[in-house]
Amino acid sequence: MATWIDGKAQADALRETVADAVGRLVDQRGLLPGLAVILVGDDPASQVYVRRKGQHAREVGMRSFEHALPTATSQAMLLERIAGLNRDPRVHGILVQLPLPAHIDPEAVIHAIDPAKDVDGFHPLNAGALAVGGEGLVPCTPLGCVQLLKSQLGELAGQHAVVLGRSRIVGRPLASLLLREDCTVTVAHSRTPDPATICRQGDILVAAAGRPGLVRDDWVKPGATVIDVGITRLEDGDSRRLVGDVDAVSVSRVAGALTPVPGGVGPMTIACLLHNTLVAACRQLGLPDPPPSARAIAPRDGL
Ligand code: NAD
Repeated sequence: MATWIDGKAQADALRETVADAVGRLVDQRGLLPGLAVILVGDDPASQVYVRRKGQHAREVGMRSFEHALPTATSQAMLLERIAGLNRDPRVHGILVQLPLPAHIDPEAVIHAIDPAKDVDGFHPLNAGALAVGGEGLVPCTPLGCVQLLKSQLGELAGQHAVVLGRSRIVGRPLASLLLREDCTVTVAHSRTPDPATICRQGDILVAAAGRPGLVRDDWVKPGATVIDVGITRLEDGDSRRLVGDVDAVSVSRVAGALTPVPGGVGPMTIACLLHNTLVAACRQLGLPDPPPSARAIAPRDGL
């Protein structure tokens, strides 16, 4: 039977490290890192995520700025709000909760955020830095996945990692991060003819397809470490539950280790957001990166 990888415990530990570093910044430098989160509309799941991000930011001692805007907010009004936050010296990290209402172009919004404050790491300058091995801010979910893998496996060099999904939020940046870890990386996606055969080759398998239960036991190499990024809300009458992309019942009989949903990648994503905010604050003030160093989280590039 597979070992469960406890994302909640890992996230608690990372948040504690961030809280310690925030305490030191406040005491020694009088600097209070600030995270601004913008939500447009009233999507209940997004409201929960935004509330949780604000609450966790306050818990680690950061200042939290929550901007809840109505669905009818125009793109121009949203861009103006972002420009104000870009100028605000109390704000070191800015996150706009996706998805946005259909009348707002997410690309325009992502481009409008100051790359130095782009704690989601989606701005093309940060995405480019990750792709070419430069120093930028790295998307939170892939960062969390790598941390979970390292907690289970230690050194990742030489492992064959298969990433299922190629989105700019998860699959692509994760493939870049795993390459930096010296993994052999294969990316499978919706146009891959036989994804099961590809996935079965992975010592590491990260499922980020957004298809509940897609990955079954015959997709997994015996002993592999499996990270389930997928989150789908299933509603059946009054009962609601979150399910991942991995069929945990069958896969747990084959895999060596597996993340649960919920309690795996989700909590790590928020902890990495806080760490990114701390990194952004330090860099904006010309201070060295805080522990764990961004390099430990998003390590060196290689040939
Ligand atoms: P997306 O829809 O943008 O991308 C999905 C990717 O999966 C695409 O690249 C597509 O090619 C691929 N895909 C879809 N169906 C496939 C199939 N049958 N076989 C192979 N590949 C297939 O989604 P996303 O934003 O990358 O998110 C993926 C999942 O991860 C979603 O369930 C999302 O809710 C979840 N997610 C979780 C967190 C977290 O914090 N835990 C964060 C981000 C996303």
